[in-house]
Amino acid sequence: MTNTSIAAKATPDQKMQGYHQKWKANHPNYMSEWRSANEERMRETNAAYYQKHKARILVEYAKPVTCECGKTMRRNNYPRHLRSSKHKAFIENKQGKE
Ligand SMILES: [Zn+2]
Repeated sequence: MTNTSIAAKATPDQKMQGYHQKWKANHPNYMSEWRSANEERMRETNAAYYQKHKARILVEYAKPVTCECGKTMRRNNYPRHLRSSKHKAFIENKQGKE
């Protein structure tokens, strides 16, 4: 076996990615259909998970996070902060300088 034939061979990861892309192309709406078919089940599962791990989740969400824009907030507010005008202004300002 030569070096070129080794290089031409797809790694197991690339092979899996190929299968995945093919599968996705053949089943374009699979996930959205699955979600609407299992909506009730997902809600129950998520609620049960929350009840079971409530203590840990609440502690985790109460932890402070400091954003790159300098604002400190609770972790559960961070996704909302990312959409805030203050944060967006900071990002725009930063991109303008680069
Ligand atoms: Zn920010």
